[in-house]
Amino acid sequence: MTVRFYNSLTRTVEEFVPLEDGVVKLYSCGPTVYNYAHIGNLRAFLFSDLLKRFLRFRGFRVDHVMNITDIDDKTIRDSQKAGKSLGEFTDFFLQEFLDDLDTLHVDKAERMPRATEEISGMISMIESLISSGHAYQVSSGDVYFKVSSFPKYGELVQLDPSSLKANAGGRLNSADEYTKENVQDFALWKAYAPSDGDAYWESPFGKGRPGWHIECSVMSTKYLGETFDIHTGGVDLKFPHHTNEIAQSECCHGELFVRYWLHNEHLMVNGKKMSKSEGNFYTLRDLLEKGYDPLAIRMELLKTHYRHQLDFREENLAANLKIIERIEGCRERLDEIINAAPEKSADGETTSWSEQLERLEQQFTAALDEDLNISEALAVYLQLIKEVNREQENLSVPDATRAVELLSRLDGVLGLCREKATLLLDEDIEQLIAERTQARAEKNFARADEIRDKLLAQGIELKDTPQGVKFVRVVGAL
Ligand code: AMP
Ligand code: ZN
Repeated sequence: MTVRFYNSLTRTVEEFVPLEDGVVKLYSCGPTVYNYAHIGNLRAFLFSDLLKRFLRFRGFRVDHVMNITDIDDKTIRDSQKAGKSLGEFTDFFLQEFLDDLDTLHVDKAERMPRATEEISGMISMIESLISSGHAYQVSSGDVYFKVSSFPKYGELVQLDPSSLKANAGGRLNSADEYTKENVQDFALWKAYAPSDGDAYWESPFGKGRPGWHIECSVMSTKYLGETFDIHTGGVDLKFPHHTNEIAQSECCHGELFVRYWLHNEHLMVNGKKMSKSEGNFYTLRDLLEKGYDPLAIRMELLKTHYRHQLDFREENLAANLKIIERIEGCRERLDEIINAAPEKSADGETTSWSEQLERLEQQFTAALDEDLNISEALAVYLQLIKEVNREQENLSVPDATRAVELLSRLDGVLGLCREKATLLLDEDIEQLIAERTQARAEKNFARADEIRDKLLAQGIELKDTPQGVKFVRVVGAL
């Protein structure tokens, strides 16, 4: 059996073979941390989570990098509006993003570099592109990538090369003529403007900040190499972002940049892409505040094939929760069989049961092998639950143990089982904090400590700040 993925670059489903035997180098475009992620964004991160979990299940070691965009027009604009420094502002939304990933059982990337901490690498890459004639600086101080210097430009989206002739179609207006040579050329470095406030770096091209595309070229190569295996992102990023990443990286290193490009389709609401600019978005906390279960939300974001648009329907969440409860009930029953070991342990493992489990595991694997056919894989997983429930009266301890092992292995891919207690909502935590403050005021330290320990057991740490007691969700706790 081989793993096959649809590669957006070749527009075919191809056998996946990593560059280095047994190791997959994976890069995912991460969030711009200027607001809470909406559930459309989260779909993109659940997709890379499924991909990574599945590759691990198939025996690969996965080296996963996801960048954090913490400098761009939006982060600068909104931090100024909020009256905060760029760092303080983006720290807050980064932590919220990490919390969202935890809530949704997303296995976070091993490395999550922040753009603002990688500026020197970006400056070096821009210098190299200028010296090799692939970039140029204009009188305003901006540095542009020269699209016409890369004949393969636009291959990912099948751009017609004739549309890339200098000033194609006369679309440059007279103001632009003093800034760039071709309408397609894109900024690698943006010269400082007073509206940028404190958000600038010194560089050989003058004071300024990097463009967005250079960020991903630099961070992916730094951590994964000049050529790496898989790059993910939403379909909206194919052009211009990924197209520009390819141009910069291949011109700079003279090597193929990415071997397999995997793009997730959009999450839609009423036929429209969910996006901040459309104003038709909701965040994870919006749904949690309505009382929906995080795993029911995870299931909804996961269960549509990544290359199909997902029409998000809140009404599906209740049905998903029922399925989650069925999975939990099944595991509880298996635990009961195993815990009642003395009476039943005499029975051996049934061969037909083992064969049945093996068959189901093979079907599950085969489904995901074929470009992550998640609906088929979920159907097999639920079939397994059904078989366990049907056979529970007849299962010996070894039979039950094998079933638990298989469920755990498959759940390593799906992430639909609660590992610990249900997540506490922010309001619940605030209420417990208030109760603890009251207990301390009354010198009831035992109760105060009890509350602190209860929160800690849920991965919630309390911090005393000048503004009162604040809480943080400890990353990776759930
Ligand atoms: P951003 O924070 O806007 O840079 O987006 C982060 C990720 O979310 C990118 O991979 C986008 O392609 C993806 N994305 C944005 N909107 C949607 C959507 N409605 N459905 C699925 N993915 C999306
Ligand atoms: Zn990117």
